[in-house]
Amino acid sequence: MDFDGDTLLQRLDDIRGRIAAAAARSGRPAERVTLVGVTKTVAVEAVQAAVALGLADLGESRVQEAQAKILAVGRDRARWHLIGHLQRNKAGRAVELFDRVHGVDDVDLAGALSRHAVSSGRSLSVLVEVNVSGEATKFGVAPEGLEPLLERIAALPGLRLDGLMTVGALVERAEAARSGFARLRSLRDQAEQQLGRTLPELSMGMSGDFEVAVEEGSTMVRVGSAIFGARSA
Ligand SMILES: *Cc1c(COP(=O)(O)O)cnc(C)c1O
Repeated sequence: MDFDGDTLLQRLDDIRGRIAAAAARSGRPAERVTLVGVTKTVAVEAVQAAVALGLADLGESRVQEAQAKILAVGRDRARWHLIGHLQRNKAGRAVELFDRVHGVDDVDLAGALSRHAVSSGRSLSVLVEVNVSGEATKFGVAPEGLEPLLERIAALPGLRLDGLMTVGALVERAEAARSGFARLRSLRDQAEQQLGRTLPELSMGMSGDFEVAVEEGSTMVRVGSAIFGARSA
């Protein structure tokens, strides 16, 4: 992983410009789309440099790895997003460390987050992950199971149910991911009707497909390698 402040600034500027252009194509102001910089495997120095350049939202996928980094960078220096799959036994730690959990896909995990949030007097933002593409290797609730899950999570204290999240299908060309993103948005629209409440956030789009995701209504793109360079395997 290379780290050089000028490169980092150039990449951030470039990505912000592309987000703004894609938002304009979807008839929305750029401010409606939050850039979450994904810092898994990224060195603390590079994360600190990105924060100094104005990156205010950071995403990590593993609680264990995130803990040391969040303490080093500073819990209050950024909004921290947990974007990966969370095991229930790490729910307490996740509530301490993160402002938002993107990958909630079952009611037991939501219940554990709720209990920890209540006992620490916090309100935790959660997004429900949907497996739109149906790929067996993916986490996320199947579209058919979404509404009952949302109803149960909406009733839990200590959680703010803010919307939905998905990981786009693994495709060669970003364009091929478009239908999945459109599907998540329409599932969200349907669920809003059914539940009689708004679900404002759609977390979708990564380095290879964030422009398409924004065109389809994403409010939160999770971008790692396009900012910080390729991750070593
Ligand atoms: C790693 C990861 C990302 C960022 O991927 P890039 O292709 O590097 O932008 C986004 N979302 C999730 C859930 C991830 O695990």
